[in-house]
Amino acid sequence: MRIPWNAIASAVLLAAVFVVFEYRGVGCSKNKFHTTHRAIALKNMYGKPNLIPVAIIGSGPAGLSAAIYAARDVHSVVIQGSKPGGLLTETTEVENWPGERSIQGPLLVQGIQDQAEDLGAQFLFDSIERVDFSRWPYTLYTKDGKELHALSVIISTGAAPRKLGIPGENEYWGMGVTACAVCDAPFFKGEDVVVVGGGDSAIEEAMQLAKHVKSVTILVRKGKGQMRAKASMQERLNGYPNISVRYNVAIEKINGDGMKVTSIDLIDTETGNKSVLPISGVFLAVGHDPNTSLFVNQIEMDEDGYILLDGRSQRASLPGVFAAGDVEDRVYRQAGVASGSGIKAALDALSFLREIGFDANTIERVKEQFFTVQGKAVRIVPALGDEIQAATSAPEAKPVIKVTTKDELSAYLQPESGIVFVDFFADYCPSCMRMLPVYEMVAGEFSGRATFLKVDASEAQELMDTYFVQKIPCLLAFNNGQLVARYNEAMDKTELTKLVNSLLAGA
Ligand code: NDP
Repeated sequence: MRIPWNAIASAVLLAAVFVVFEYRGVGCSKNKFHTTHRAIALKNMYGKPNLIPVAIIGSGPAGLSAAIYAARDVHSVVIQGSKPGGLLTETTEVENWPGERSIQGPLLVQGIQDQAEDLGAQFLFDSIERVDFSRWPYTLYTKDGKELHALSVIISTGAAPRKLGIPGENEYWGMGVTACAVCDAPFFKGEDVVVVGGGDSAIEEAMQLAKHVKSVTILVRKGKGQMRAKASMQERLNGYPNISVRYNVAIEKINGDGMKVTSIDLIDTETGNKSVLPISGVFLAVGHDPNTSLFVNQIEMDEDGYILLDGRSQRASLPGVFAAGDVEDRVYRQAGVASGSGIKAALDALSFLREIGFDANTIERVKEQFFTVQGKAVRIVPALGDEIQAATSAPEAKPVIKVTTKDELSAYLQPESGIVFVDFFADYCPSCMRMLPVYEMVAGEFSGRATFLKVDASEAQELMDTYFVQKIPCLLAFNNGQLVARYNEAMDKTELTKLVNSLLAGA
């Protein structure tokens, strides 16, 4: 009988292709969720450095709650991202967190972080820049250049405030346009401002602003009675005589004089009538988009970028990858729900590790390969009674010189002064308080090559006016006394180092 070698070879090839795809967990089955653990071979982790049994990306209530549950059982590391604590750090009063009648957002997340740290979770103040989920253990590349190997990953990267995409928005970002009333309201004292949006955030922003400004107008694109904010939140506006709501109105353009916002162009969404409203601040509260760009083509998402989950679990579309919080929740988006989903994700991750055979014996064998973080977590709010300086875990942080008046600053802005940086901060601004220790660390590294100054925005009105600072943190860069650049967003260590290097190179 003739042996059908061609048919046998094709069958072997097909089987090999199937095994390779299954093994890598990226199979071509119709089911989107490759949660089968056949894809995982424990031997792949032996010899690999920087192993993390449970890697948690993101440090809002979802990530921190996951850390509480995961760290009690197994070595867990939270990669904090550039905004430790997440969006709750920009909220003032939270009245719906079970067990707390009223608590400040930053204090709430700090409490969860402290608890997770006490239970053994480690915190890395760095951001994930790229992931490779095509092979297990999964590789996470950090902004600071680390290559981490995760046995399981919990994605809790949250969501980012949406922008309007209208003319003038980017041009005047930080010069009158912002998305954080907690941070920036004090810079609009006695001014007329608008909040754009009709959700709970818009109401929160307006109430926060009302304490500082002359008037706040909430611009809602829908009609009266169709506002998205909860009725209970809308009722709270009654206690604020300087807040008004305008319905059926959309903002088309933000105008300014080159340095600050002066007015906005409006259109009536019913009649099409156009008008101009003179104001000096535009606070955006038009919703959020999930922070999932890192994971495109790696795991399954819906058309708006929310991570898809397997049934009622927190399992994403690859074995050992889980998601929790606003990154997967387009419906509830509440801190309590995010926290609960983080707990579920941790429990799912722990049972995944058990199922692949990651037991006490295996841990003993690989624990020398674990990635460990030196030092304590970067805090979300300074420890009570501590100086700002003590809020950082960075041992090499160096103080920078504090200036408060124009005269003090001008001493550093002479024709021969070289490169000088000035960081405007305030202790009520969470992103400022995160950036300041990093700024001081970078100052230490570049000591002698550039000068690093800081200005406490709450006590330096003259300098705020001189440099039109309406949003903090704000970093100004000078070369031989001339202002050469300004930055209106919080920066991490990599960004600051790159910036200092580039200015020194061009000096
Ligand atoms: P939401 O998605 O709830 O609301 C966004 C608002 O912005 C909607 O009114 C929407 O209008 C409007 N909008 C969107 N795009 C535009 C645009 N281009 N121009 C004008 N308006 C626009 O987001 P929030 O950030 O307000 O809330 C997110 C979640 O956080 C919610 O679940 C909320 O309950 C929760 N939250 C709870 C708080 C609390 O309980 N204390 C405080 C803050 C938030 P439209 O309705 O027409 O789509």
